[in-house]
Amino acid sequence: MAEHESLEFGKADFVLLDNVSLEEFMANLKLRFEKGRIYTYIGEVVVSVNPYRAMNIYGRDTIEQYKGRELYERPPHLFAIADAAYKAMKRRNKDTCIVISGESGAGKTEASKYIMQYIAAITNPGQRAEVERVKNMLLKSNCVLEAFGNAKTNRNDNSSRFGKYMDINFDFKGDPIGGHINNYLLEKSRVIFQQEGERSFHSFYQVCVCGLIVCSSINDTADFKAVADAMKVIGFTAEEIQTVYKILASILHLGNLRFGVDGDTTLIENPKVVELIGGLLATKEESVEKALLYRTVATGRDVIDKQHTAQEAGYGRDALAKAMYERMFCWIVGRINDVIEVKNYDAKVHGKNTVIGVLDIYGFEIFQNNSFEQFCINYCNEKLQQLFIQLVLTQEQEEYQREGIPWKHIDYFNNQVIVDLVELQHKGIFSVLDEACMNVGKVTDEVFLQGLNSKLAKHAHYTSRKLSPTDKSLEFDRDFRVRHYAGDVVYSVVGFIDKNKDTLFQDFKRLLYNSSNPVLKVMWPEGKLSITEVTKRPLTAATLFKNSMIALVENLACKEPYYVRCIKPNEVKSPLLFEQERCRHQVEYLGLLENVRVRRAGFANRQEYPRFLQRYKMISEFTWPNHDLRSDREAVKMLLQSCGLEHDVAYGKTKVFIRTPRTLFSLEEQRAEM
Ligand code: ATP
Ligand code: MG
Repeated sequence: MAEHESLEFGKADFVLLDNVSLEEFMANLKLRFEKGRIYTYIGEVVVSVNPYRAMNIYGRDTIEQYKGRELYERPPHLFAIADAAYKAMKRRNKDTCIVISGESGAGKTEASKYIMQYIAAITNPGQRAEVERVKNMLLKSNCVLEAFGNAKTNRNDNSSRFGKYMDINFDFKGDPIGGHINNYLLEKSRVIFQQEGERSFHSFYQVCVCGLIVCSSINDTADFKAVADAMKVIGFTAEEIQTVYKILASILHLGNLRFGVDGDTTLIENPKVVELIGGLLATKEESVEKALLYRTVATGRDVIDKQHTAQEAGYGRDALAKAMYERMFCWIVGRINDVIEVKNYDAKVHGKNTVIGVLDIYGFEIFQNNSFEQFCINYCNEKLQQLFIQLVLTQEQEEYQREGIPWKHIDYFNNQVIVDLVELQHKGIFSVLDEACMNVGKVTDEVFLQGLNSKLAKHAHYTSRKLSPTDKSLEFDRDFRVRHYAGDVVYSVVGFIDKNKDTLFQDFKRLLYNSSNPVLKVMWPEGKLSITEVTKRPLTAATLFKNSMIALVENLACKEPYYVRCIKPNEVKSPLLFEQERCRHQVEYLGLLENVRVRRAGFANRQEYPRFLQRYKMISEFTWPNHDLRSDREAVKMLLQSCGLEHDVAYGKTKVFIRTPRTLFSLEEQRAEM
């Protein structure tokens, strides 16, 4: 509580602001950032501002300070949230989750790692070897996933290009016994294309430190070793690790392949590269060449080899590179899961097995040019915002109900309307996209845009160049705009159809399945099917993503949630700069002010009776040194009456609820005077 009293560092909880206005909120956030206080609460939500410098607040001694403490007893910290989630899990047998959100570079991944480190540090006091092994693997998995799933972007030198949800399973003692990772939509287009100033995934530079794009904050050589070690520790075999390198190398070679034409024939201009790829993938050179240049098509009863144009061959090559990388990434996640998943049948069935989930997923993105990937990512953020609205409200509401305290409703901007705009069957943008992809006639991005315009013309959150011709933000004919909860985003339809269909010719799948490298082969089980056996149209990328998001939200919704809301203070990675406008925008779209209001409309503070007494019993003669009343609840009543504060509190079944922060200050002052 010490920090609540000291104005020097601002208010440690936004709920304690004198007036809940954007100005005061921003002033407090800025002051705390400047004083090196990067964490602030809104009740049980942690607001974090990326410090962009090493902070001496994550060490062993800090961990000790937070272990087993209540939230408000120590300055705001991720550790306090991690501890709260852990306590809820251990004491109340609840599955909990920690949802970390914020835009690219705001500090989500760093936060998730500190949280995991904290949990690892406070568990397994008995030093059981099996638990230590599990903990080590959970921590090491981050290193591997970052190597393959992160890249330098213009916003963040270590940007996660996939979404990650990790469950940690605990046994009845509260020790980690396993885990499971879910990964979401890897931005695989990065394999073939990066914007100016960006890099592909770290893994490529680690295997060939050829100094192409060196990034001062990244040491590819050292990382290469760390990743190889981590993979070994996790249990990847030498053959598996070798195969990973071979896949990376073949993707790099694919990038060098050039196609040309000679009369009617499409040919490969640099066949030497094909030979290299064949060697790396343990397939025949001729098979690689054939898969690149021809497509097997079934026409009625006949099966023929249809030659690609040079353009089609180029498309196929790129699709192959992307697909190989994505498959490998998913396979790596799968292999990690094989090792960390709870194996012990007894622990699963008989023992109490509870879970803490940690979600570190891409934040809202607005780029110069926004495409299918940004659309998916922003939809994901709409889903999570919707969950936040529901859970934060519901949670408050339920607590008041549980404790028998009357509650009045607070209005939010409810973004369900935008979620529906994207995902609704038949009417939503994803459905229109899928329909356009299945069109029998022309399948083009323009057909998709026409579909949107005809179905969504009247939607308040949708418009396009055609519908709003005078709108300056819609520069090109192919633009459409969605009014997201976090702001307006203009998307270009170019590439939506291709990315959604995500076609990889069956010939490539067969090629890889027929590799004599068993590790590569298992990544491509569907390559087993011959051309006449392939009938089902695979689900589109949009449908797969939508389904995975719905499943994610369902999973989170049945857990007790804890939130970390990350804010990026500036665009230039500076530890000194607090860009007012940028920060204000984030505070607005994260709905933080509404969060404070909801929290305050209820009660600013709540404490269990015994805890409350422990802290304030010295204030009143009725309770000091001990009370002889019927219950702690009675004692708290007497105490508050004797200080004249009872008008500002409500007595729940197990907790006392304090409406305004002033009352809390008053108690703290009286306590300090004793
Ligand atoms: P993305 O969505 O792009 O993955 P992110 O929110 O995960 O972004 P991080 O990678 O966690 O962002 O953080 C970006 C960088 O900011 C880190 O590499 C680190 O340099 C710095 N940073 C973030 N949090 C902290 C912290 N608590 N202490 C010191 N530096 C930090
Ligand atoms: Mg990240």
